[in-house]
Amino acid sequence: MPSMDRRDFVNWLGLGACALVAGSAQAQAARRPNILYMMSDDHAAHAISAYGSRVNQTPNIDRLATGGMRFNHIYATNSICTPSRATILTGQYSHVNGVPVFNPLPNDRPVVSEMMQAAGYWTSMVGKWHLGSDPRGFDQWEILPGQGAYVDPMLYNAQGRKKYTGHCTDVVTDIALGFLKDRPRDKPFFSMVHHKAPHRNWIPAERHAAAWRDKVIPEPDTLFDDYAGRADAIRNQKQSIARDLTPTDVKQAPPAGLAGDDLTRWKYQRYMQDYLACVQGVDESVGRILDWLDTEGLADNTLVIYTSDQGFFLGDHGLFDKRFMYEESDQMPFLARWPGHITPNRQCDALGINCDFAPTFLEVAGRPTPPTMQGRSLVQWMEGRKIEDWRDSFYYRYYHDPGDHNTAAQYGVRTNTHKLIYFWRLDQWECYDLTKDPKELRNIYHDPAAQPVVAKLKAELARLKKEVGDTEDRYARNEDWPKGGVDGGPRPIRP
Ligand code: CA
Repeated sequence: MPSMDRRDFVNWLGLGACALVAGSAQAQAARRPNILYMMSDDHAAHAISAYGSRVNQTPNIDRLATGGMRFNHIYATNSICTPSRATILTGQYSHVNGVPVFNPLPNDRPVVSEMMQAAGYWTSMVGKWHLGSDPRGFDQWEILPGQGAYVDPMLYNAQGRKKYTGHCTDVVTDIALGFLKDRPRDKPFFSMVHHKAPHRNWIPAERHAAAWRDKVIPEPDTLFDDYAGRADAIRNQKQSIARDLTPTDVKQAPPAGLAGDDLTRWKYQRYMQDYLACVQGVDESVGRILDWLDTEGLADNTLVIYTSDQGFFLGDHGLFDKRFMYEESDQMPFLARWPGHITPNRQCDALGINCDFAPTFLEVAGRPTPPTMQGRSLVQWMEGRKIEDWRDSFYYRYYHDPGDHNTAAQYGVRTNTHKLIYFWRLDQWECYDLTKDPKELRNIYHDPAAQPVVAKLKAELARLKKEVGDTEDRYARNEDWPKGGVDGGPRPIRP
């Protein structure tokens, strides 16, 4: 019989006692932990004060860090909205789940919400879905069409559509709380709350816009990165603050006479004022939901997660979007609070990916990870127990080229210390030593001294490609992309 440490024993004793007290299988099921999963769109970790933000304060999101665990190294496996959302729901890489670009999630793809329902959970989904097909596996859902609108948004469900008055972040929060208040009480809940904010073009509620209008935001060290020594991808991109922010983005004409670096600085301020004001709205929403959990006495038995579908450049490398495998755009904030399981104020450095989310939900529900999923549950990390055979590298692949912002197709490997990126259409490589160069400014790919580490990383990349089943380079040719777009082309979503 495997040995049981004291913690396991206490847990076992606790569960046994619950079963006795509850006295029925139904009551026992209702005592299983709830999961409240809050995800925003394009919220970079470095715009959360719990992650050491230099540019803003997020006191409510920070409550999850002080009351729980801050994961320092969780990454998107394909850093854009639709593919990341598909990966979160399926636990699979883009080349496996069939969503490499902005194409609909195939309707026959098993999703974690259906599995949570089958496990006896009541499930709900509100807000930005962006998967080009209706949600499956949710007892209650109401979503924005495509990107949705910031102001007076329309949302729809299987019964029809409704136009709301107000800011999208407030509307989504109201609907989410309404669903939770009306939920059945004999089941635990699995609730996904997906904000549109702070996605481009960053329209905050007026109360937050007013608070940020005159603030001066510190500039990132790499705002004027000269891209020396890098592959052509970063020179060819069209997501530069200086060149590519539009009048719609900055919402007012620049002061007369501004040019060059001064104009870039002005655009950065306008961009960040609106972006951070949108983040403040999301932070307020998190506060409302956490307060509600407290009021209802649900906080102790609920795993609360806050994350974003990927990261975002906040002027880092002079940029404002995502897609690149660089840290700022690929890292997902991931904060988890779960009293009794997660010791307050902890951090975790394990290398996690968005394929891990679905297995995590399932383990909380007492279900094993299906063999078709490509991630692993984070629950043991949350509970402070090291997983000895955990991954020490992960595979990344971005396909949408040509696509928005002219970002070059790329794949690569990140380890705990290094990153190797291959821009396969350009046949150019970048390699970074993250221990010495965390801002990824010095490409060491061609350095003679780096050749042993480059060779090791190439071998690891080949191993990972085999492990995740990307040896045939599915979707490497654009003509192989699944047909039908989410944002362009035929739109299969209702209405
Ligand atoms: Ca996104």
